[in-house]
Amino acid sequence: MTSFEELGVNENLRRAIEELGFEKPMPVQEKVIPVLLNGDHDVVGLAQTGTGKTAAFGLPVIQRIDTKRRVPQALILAPTRELCLQIAGDLADFSKYVDDLEVLPVYGGSSIESQIRQLKKGVQVIVATPGRLIDLINRGVVKLNDVHTVILDEADEMLNMGFVDSLNEILQHVPEDRTTLMFSATMPAEVAKIAKKYMKDAEEIVVGNRNEGAENVRHIYYMVNARDKYLALKRIVDNSPNIYAIIFCRTRRDTQEIADKLISDGYNAEALHGDLSQAQRDLVMKKFRDRVLPILVATDVAARGLDVDDLTHVINYGLPEDVSVYTHRSGRTGRAGKAGTSIAIIHSREKGRLREIERIIGKKFEHKDVPTPEHIIEKQLYNLADRLEKVEVPEEEIDKYFRGVSKKLSWLSTDDLLKRVLSLEFNRLLAYYKDAPKIDFIDEKPSKGEKGGKKAKRFENDGNKDRRTAEPGMARIYVNVGKADGFFAGNLIELLNKNVPGKRVDVGRIDLMPDYTLFDIPEEDAKRTVAALKGSEFFGKRIYSEVASEDKDYAGKGKKDYAKAKKDYGMSIAKRKKTQINW
Ligand code: ADP
Ligand code: MG
Repeated sequence: MTSFEELGVNENLRRAIEELGFEKPMPVQEKVIPVLLNGDHDVVGLAQTGTGKTAAFGLPVIQRIDTKRRVPQALILAPTRELCLQIAGDLADFSKYVDDLEVLPVYGGSSIESQIRQLKKGVQVIVATPGRLIDLINRGVVKLNDVHTVILDEADEMLNMGFVDSLNEILQHVPEDRTTLMFSATMPAEVAKIAKKYMKDAEEIVVGNRNEGAENVRHIYYMVNARDKYLALKRIVDNSPNIYAIIFCRTRRDTQEIADKLISDGYNAEALHGDLSQAQRDLVMKKFRDRVLPILVATDVAARGLDVDDLTHVINYGLPEDVSVYTHRSGRTGRAGKAGTSIAIIHSREKGRLREIERIIGKKFEHKDVPTPEHIIEKQLYNLADRLEKVEVPEEEIDKYFRGVSKKLSWLSTDDLLKRVLSLEFNRLLAYYKDAPKIDFIDEKPSKGEKGGKKAKRFENDGNKDRRTAEPGMARIYVNVGKADGFFAGNLIELLNKNVPGKRVDVGRIDLMPDYTLFDIPEEDAKRTVAALKGSEFFGKRIYSEVASEDKDYAGKGKKDYAKAKKDYGMSIAKRKKTQINW
């Protein structure tokens, strides 16, 4: 078996990657490293996310830098800011024991001045998004005449994002006798065209079978009426208690819409797409990586390259146009020998495309009925039972409180107690699914029950209801932060837990608006919650809160309240502390 040493990777780099836990090269590394070290010829690599491309090009790129010269010698282009940062972070890890190596990520949306300052200090490796790089070239602050290696990472996404012209322009500024590497998860005609135009005698490397889904991925489809897709999605999620999943949607709008619906239905989910600000994307990705957030609703572009392992499910909210996109999505699960499930929620007109995918990946989709309420409830209850069995009991610490609590509950039998424990967590679910019929999703008749069901309403958040009206028994609370601040359901819960002393406040319906948020809490908790929130902070922004009034217009109020809160409570201490991201 080949080792990194045999591939020609030098000692300093080996030491660093050993510390990262790399024992032996991954297939793409075995193929790419020697080629790039010798600078022999160009390479087109067809490989999916998670196959180890960064080290495949990163190690030889670092090794070939002449650190005595402080000019750009290697250029890495990637479609998004997140990928640039991820790659630059990886290169920094690899070069831990290499002195005098400067890697600079440059990307749009952040201060160009500070990037220019750093460029002027002299960097050897630039990791850039095409747009920002062009900007820097035009300002005359980047010279690419000494670049001997160019890497195009996730080339198909760069083209999808309309960077063709930018790529063309950038490549004209790089000497012709360079080595060019292009990586792409899919190989549409436009990518092949770029390869042909800019690469010489490129060797094509394919990692894993081009169109074959990962071995241990099960492919399942649910067929529903188009209008029931969202309901089916919820049931599928409810039926998977320990889900850690990406839900792929085709457009940014769908992505946001589905995420918003899930959030208002009480799910811990968030959207990831290009319309979000950087701060928002950073927050969402950090939470997803840390598994604080179990459900990510994303566009293909936004999720590309995101290095997240261990997904239990990939959910296709509708099938993508392109089979290779499906392959790529489903390849995000079932990694490292673990089992994974790729789910497609489709309507009958998508059947043809499903068959086409089957033909190309050479695997059959299993057809399943959408989980029934009984099934879901049973599954959730067993999962809770499982958790009860497995939870670690901190005997000593709990002893202090146990006697008192046990006395208070002494009038309950064991059965009663257990039933109450179960009900505690599942009243919502039970209420929601009560009277919900088994829906025949292939039936052309409109599905009744869930949509019209009385109990269901609470959770279905029908759009017509006035946002300012609380549910019975609840109080509606207003805060002056919203989605544009990167404030989502999970943040609200955190904010409450952090700032409201005493008994935990249960949150009901949440309406996240761009610049403010309205949410329900039990009436009796309203006063202390508002009092505690006033003057608290969310990422350096002072919070203003009040019990929402039905005849106030809250749109646009967030900004004014921010000024007011600032006046009342002073400038924030943290003043938009920089989010620390572990790339
Ligand atoms: P890609 O760019 O193909 O999506 P990455 O380069 O991000 O993949 O690598 C995916 C993950 O695999 C990363 O967490 C990386 O640290 C890890 N990795 C890469 N090479 C090795 C190796 N040789 N041994 C163990 N882990 C590796
Ligand atoms: Mg990558």
